[in-house]
Parts: sequence; C-alpha cells; structure tokens
Amino acid sequence: MSEQADRPSNFLRGLIESDLAAGRHANRRWAGHPGIATEHRAGASDPAKIRTRFPPEPNGYLHVGHAKSICLNFGLARDYGGRCHMRFDDTNPVKEDQEYVDSILDAVRWLGFHWDTEGESNLYYASDYFDRLWEFAEWLVQAGHAYVDSQSAEDMRAGRGTLTEPGRNSPYRDRSPEESLRLMREMRDGKHPEGSHVVRARIDMASPNMNMRDPALYRIRFAEHHRTGTKWCVYPMYDYAHPISDALENITHSICTLEFADHRPLYDWLLERLAEGGFFDKPLPQQIEFARLNLSYAITSKRKLQDLVQRGLVSGWDDPRMPTIVGLRRRGYTPASIQLFAERIGVAKADSWIDMSVLEQALRDDLEASAARAVAVLDPLKLVIESWPGDRNEACSAPVHPQQPERGRRSFPFTRELFIEREDFAETPPKGFFRLFPGNRVRLRYGYVIECTGFDRDASGQICAVRARHFDDSKSGTPGADLYKVKGNIHWVSASHALKAQVRLYDRLYRDPQPDAGGRDPLQSLNPESLRTIKAMLEPTLAHAAPEDRFQFERHGYFVADRNDSKPGAPVFNRAVGLKDSWGGGARG
Ligand code: ATP
Ligand code: MG
Repeated sequence: MSEQADRPSNFLRGLIESDLAAGRHANRRWAGHPGIATEHRAGASDPAKIRTRFPPEPNGYLHVGHAKSICLNFGLARDYGGRCHMRFDDTNPVKEDQEYVDSILDAVRWLGFHWDTEGESNLYYASDYFDRLWEFAEWLVQAGHAYVDSQSAEDMRAGRGTLTEPGRNSPYRDRSPEESLRLMREMRDGKHPEGSHVVRARIDMASPNMNMRDPALYRIRFAEHHRTGTKWCVYPMYDYAHPISDALENITHSICTLEFADHRPLYDWLLERLAEGGFFDKPLPQQIEFARLNLSYAITSKRKLQDLVQRGLVSGWDDPRMPTIVGLRRRGYTPASIQLFAERIGVAKADSWIDMSVLEQALRDDLEASAARAVAVLDPLKLVIESWPGDRNEACSAPVHPQQPERGRRSFPFTRELFIEREDFAETPPKGFFRLFPGNRVRLRYGYVIECTGFDRDASGQICAVRARHFDDSKSGTPGADLYKVKGNIHWVSASHALKAQVRLYDRLYRDPQPDAGGRDPLQSLNPESLRTIKAMLEPTLAHAAPEDRFQFERHGYFVADRNDSKPGAPVFNRAVGLKDSWGGGARG
C-alpha cells in the first residue's frame, strides 16, 4: 500500500503489522453487523483486516485531542485494509444529547473520514447494545461472576480500601445467584430507588488494582436517554459497556488513552468470562493505550470547554479561539492541516505536551501551497500621490500564487489616493528602516516607485496623510522599471476601490502555556487580548470571497472568510495564523 509506505512508523503500526504478519485476526468471521459469536460464525470471512473504532461520548463538541484519535483510528483502518467504526458511547443518559451526536458526525466527516464502506455502514450506538449488555449481566450473575450489592454508596466506598490497604468484602457478596437475579430484575423493573442496589462483578477485593475490586457494572438511574427514552432505568457503567461493545463489533485493536491502562485487566477479565460463556470467540479485542494529546495554550477537556461557552467567555463552541474541531474550522484550519499535524506528532506511550506552534506550522505548510495571495492593509494610513491626476486609474496586477503561474493573475487599480500600513511610514526613521519617510523612495508593490514629499497631521497631532510623487516609468513589469533601486517594497490598496471589511485578529486564548495543569484554574490565565476586531482596507477582488475561502494576505499571514458571518459581497475575515512563528501572532514579512 503506497500510502502506508510514506507514513512514519510508530509502536501502534508495529503492533498491527506484526499481528497481520502472524495472521492473528485472519480467521475472524463477520455477521455484517455487531453480534455474538454464533451470529459472526454464520457470516462470511471478515472483509476487514483490522477493525478499530472511534468511540466518543456525545456530551460535548470534539476537540483537537479527539481529532488526533480520529486521525489515528480511521487512518490505521485506511492504511491496513481495515474499517473504523464510528461508535457513540452513549451509556450515560444524563449528559448526552442529539445536538452533540450531529456535531460529532459532522466533525468526523469534515476531517475527511467516513464509516460507510462497500455497503457496510459502521455507525453504531452503545445504547443499541443495552439488551445484550443486560443479558450478559444476568449470565454473569448466574455464573457466579457478579452479584447485587445493597450497601449504601458510602459503605461501598469505604469498603473499597485504598491504594495501600485492601478492600473488604461486601456483606452481600455471598448472596445466591437466584437472589441477585431476582433483585436485578426488580431493579430493571423500576422497583428500587436510585442508589439502593448496584450489580457488581465478583473479582477480588484485595487486588492491588482498584478497578478489580468488584467494580460496579450496572446502576439505577431514572433518567430519560436521548435514544432509548424511558425504556431503561438501569444503565451500564463505561468499564462494562466498552469492552462488550468492542467484542460485539469484532474490533481487533481498541485504542484508548493512557489513563485506561489500569482498566485493561478488567477489560480482559470481562471478555474472558463472556468467551467462557460462549458469547465471544477468540481472539478477543485487544486494548492498547497511547498518550493523549496535550496542546500548549489550549484545553482539551469537554467539560472545561463547556464552561467557557456557558460563561460567555467565548462566542460559542465554534469560537475561532476554541480548540474544538468546529472552532479550528472557523479559524481557518483545513482537514489536511489537522491530518498533517496528527501525523507529525505521531503516537507515544508517555504523556507529553505538544507546542501550539506545531499545529500552526501544519496549517502554514498546507496553506502556503494552496492559498491565493491578496493584499490587505490592516492599519490604514492615507497616501496621496500628488503627481498623479485625480481621474487617472491604472490597472496593476499580481500573481494569484507566485509559484503557480497557471493560477493566473489578479488585477487592481492604482489611483491618486491609496492606503498603506501606518507602520510602513516613519516621520523619523529608526536605524535600518527602509520603508517610507520624508525624502525616501520605496516601491509600491506591483505598482510604482514613489518618493515621500511630506505628511499631514490632524487636529490631535496624529499623522493622517502622507504625500508623495511617483515616477511614471517605474511601473512594475515594464521595461526599465528595475533601474530604480529601492530598498523598501510596501503594499497598498486604492482608497476609492478598497473593500472595507471586518478583520478579526486572534491570539492565544490563554497566557499560561499549561492553563489547567496541576489543578490550576484556566480562567485565571485567560488572555484579554485574544481577539482584536479591526476595519481593514482590502484588495477589491476579495469582495467575491466565499465563506471558508482562504488567502495569504501578503506580509500578514493566512486569513479565512468567516463561515458564519460573511455575507455575499461583504466577507468578514479571521486571521488563521501569522506568516511566521511569533508569540502574539502579527508576524510581518
Ligand atoms: P473529555 O475529557 O474531553 O470529555 P473524553 O476522553 O472523555 O474527553 P470521549 O468522548 O470519551 O472524551 O473520547 C472519545 C475518544 O477520544 C476516546 O477514545 C479518547 O481516548 C479520545 N480522546 C479524548 N481526548 C483525547 C486527547 N486529548 N488526546 C487523544 N485522544 C483523546
Ligand atoms: Mg469521557
């Protein structure tokens, strides 16, 4: 597979390659849908060499950490002739919502991945397995592997012990399977209040691994579920539902973040028991952990992101400062840049921080080749060419992309009154300043060479206009134009033709590179200057920019027409990233 060859290797790829070489999953069969062993055995040989899954809980919008997991799981399936399942881990009815389901599906599609392959749609919901999960729990109770505990939550907590002390057996641990079964059915039928009983696995209260001390499998919750409504008042715990969902779906490699490493013994224990019960065939799915993405100057926790939204500190989940996938998209990130980022950071077995500049550089590297060039004056200062007749209007042109002449040229008028960047003029030039100052000559990019003849101040003393004369035989691209030797080359737009548009200059949302590390409150380090909105003067051709069109504003960086607020003929631009890596953005070339 050619795609596979040019991707950097990592421990996950190594593991999958050795599984494939050993034919570890070669004899699996697939019912065409999730199911138990008897169903899969009746199916054909599994057309997928491996199966991975992306299993978000629909309780918020996805963030850049999820993007890493999406690129990883869907990318591995793509590269190794496998399939990646899109699965909603929707077993907790309280926090979940259809709005989040829709946004998650959108985000995965936008990133460039799909779960439909050759007529097989691998879109699943853990809630679709509620019947099976319950059936398995009854079997575990009958087989002596689980029981109903009726201790109070407090007693149960106390009985679990600590990292240094073993737990104590519950007084209900030796209940007969018959009694436990009767009680759990009453739980299911709504006969007991929340918190009165739980179904627990019977493993080992003295295990050094707390997760193995008779973990809860089911609890009572009188809550409406966004898909199953009020059908259930008992809901499975994540640690119970997850391995079983994987096994029903024939998942081969169940990739998750490091904090689940301690849960792996439980994952394996449950599937082993259910395999003994004949529900699943071997090889069973294998859980493999990798380091979660920690991105500097960003927060990757749905709950903390939701807090920003609810407090109104950002405009919504898709605020361009948010590290959510919808936020990155609105900011100007492309699917290709996020995939490139995910590949560059790779996967590791130990937690670390990735610098935000790595994400930004991936965007630059993608947009450098694809984005059309345009001129924007962000802090306009009037320039009057006194030697230029008021009614003269001369077309100047520049390439759409300097390295891609096939993309053609753009044209814009040169007139008597122009706008230049305020910082391109200095009344008294500092050392090494080659741009405009009284008596100095510069080239107006793609236009004429001019010489500064003076400037005006307004009533408050601010410089409000610069005056100059031009050299008529110096027009860029005409014979003899390069006989004019000038050191400065500045950009401009015609004052009468410029598109006046709103431009949003974004900066990092936090001042602290690790805003929530060590239990710190991220709200304490919010950057009050993370958004500056200005009115800029743009090249007139930009009036036709469609939402999500991306440009390099020469000397300023990459900008995108905002997908929410742009109107036909009146785009609003967001700065996606500066041209160079520099704290504070506003890089100048
Ligand atoms: P959050 O704490 O933000 O809610 P989560 O891990 O609880 O995140 P899930 O919806 O359960 O969110 O995650 C779906 C998948 O995305 C999981 O497989 C999880 O491992 C992965 N994931 C979540 N956050 C990150 C991250 N920062 N880096 C890599 N993978 C992540
Ligand atoms: Mg979670």
